[in-house]
Amino acid sequence: MSKTISILGLGAMGTALDNALIDAGNVMTVWNRTQTRADALVARGARRAKTVSEAIAASDLIILCLTDYAAVDATLADVGPMLANKTVVNLTNGRPDEVRAIAARLEGYGARYLDGGIMATPPMIGSPHAFILYSGSADAFEGAKEQLAAFGQSHYLGEDPIFAAVNDLALLSAMYGLFGGYLHATALAGSVGVTAKQFLPLVEPWLAAMMTALPDYAERIDSGDHARDVMSNLAMQSVAITNIVTASRSQGIDPAFMEPMERLAQKRLAGGFGTDEISGIIEVMRAK
Ligand code: NDP
Repeated sequence: MSKTISILGLGAMGTALDNALIDAGNVMTVWNRTQTRADALVARGARRAKTVSEAIAASDLIILCLTDYAAVDATLADVGPMLANKTVVNLTNGRPDEVRAIAARLEGYGARYLDGGIMATPPMIGSPHAFILYSGSADAFEGAKEQLAAFGQSHYLGEDPIFAAVNDLALLSAMYGLFGGYLHATALAGSVGVTAKQFLPLVEPWLAAMMTALPDYAERIDSGDHARDVMSNLAMQSVAITNIVTASRSQGIDPAFMEPMERLAQKRLAGGFGTDEISGIIEVMRAK
């Protein structure tokens, strides 16, 4: 069933979201600070709202996808009371403190607030590979889930509005760790003349093979037992980590990405956990 939906924010992601909703047969109202960015969507049948108020008035389901929460605050600054009884789905990347503040403010106006974290790039939206994390009002999620399914898989994480943002940032941490590690590795290999394309057939299967360690690490982390059946102990691995940092320097590569890993490994070692698995480093991360 199609419903009127308003989207505020037509950057790369907002445009992809809007296209997916149009593809699913929804009637869309679109607003963007720079109005011309709506032209292609209007050509596909979306209604152009000239003001934020017009966009809010047009729909009961309001989706926001802006650069940051400062942009969300600026956009909603004058329309708070209009949000009473509306569902607001905010898919802007943010921090838990920002999410709490905006959830409280919009709920104060009588809105149902759902926060979201998009785990996809714009071209992935609408494909089975895209998934979106949601948290906040269960009523809002129940009421909107049919429409939100147009974006990809939906994961509702619970009523606390910060769950989606924290999980989103956690998943992005894993991604940036992977990207940073890959870039450092490629720079180090490049110091002896290996091109990125030549290195790829080595690094890609290596990373895929190392991913298989995660279920074992997850079990160790949840049980707190990093000492049972250890195959690759921290004392041994910390030699390799320090070798990476030292060799990077001598090869003319900035070791900045790997230095924090060395510090954490040394801290855990100093605590007397050299015979544990490397998963135990999480204990020093948690201790701050
Ligand atoms: P873009 O830079 O393409 O678009 C930013 C949007 O925010 C534009 O619509 C811009 O309007 C608007 N905007 C910025 N500042 C203001 C303001 N002060 N008032 C009103 N509107 C403002 O970003 P994306 O679309 O790529 O990203 C949007 C959100 O989606 C971000 O939170 C991002 O983290 C998230 N996301 C993006 C992904 C991606 O790969 N692109 C992946 C996952 C999440 P204007 O056109 O007028 O400048």
